[in-house]
Amino acid sequence: MAIKYDAIVIGTGQAGPSLAVRLAGTGMKVAIIERKRFGGTCVNNGCIPTKTLVASARAAHVARRAGDYGVTILSSIAVDMKKVKARKDAVVRQSRQIFYQRWRTRVYSSAPGHR
Ligand SMILES: Cc1cc2nc3c(=O)[nH]c(=O)nc-3n(C[C@H](O)[C@H](O)[C@H](O)COP(=O)(O)OP(=O)(O)OC[C@H]3O[C@@H](n4cnc5c(N)ncnc54)[C@H](O)[C@@H]3O)c2cc1C
Repeated sequence: MAIKYDAIVIGTGQAGPSLAVRLAGTGMKVAIIERKRFGGTCVNNGCIPTKTLVASARAAHVARRAGDYGVTILSSIAVDMKKVKARKDAVVRQSRQIFYQRWRTRVYSSAPGHR
């Protein structure tokens, strides 16, 4: 059975979900389509993963400069890139889930008849 929509929003990056919420708020029946991963560039490849990697780099930097702050670290500082990547992947996964839940709730709660 064919379903009719008033608007179809393509993409679930930073732009798509907020547009879908606005349109749903005006009473439109809205579909949102994503070809890859919910959250788009920012959540999956952009803002979130880069800042997570930068946080690991900063931790290594601060640890290496611990002596400047009067803190003695008795062993050498090493970066385990497998763990860095695993942490980044976990943060991205969690962010995607939170982003999805938040927008799903907002799209539904904006649409009349879905309160
Ligand atoms: C490395 C990096 C770091 C960044 N860091 C920051 C930052 O710190 N702060 C900041 O403000 N911005 C940052 N950005 C920019 C930010 O990611 C973008 O501005 C933002 O993601 C743009 O959102 P958008 O919705 O326009 O596009 P996108 O997030 O790219 O979303 C588009 C979505 O549409 C989907 N799509 C495309 N075509 C189709 C189709 N035909 N059918 C179905 N789905 C489709 C894609 O799969 C994607 O999910 C960064 C970007 C990069 C690359």
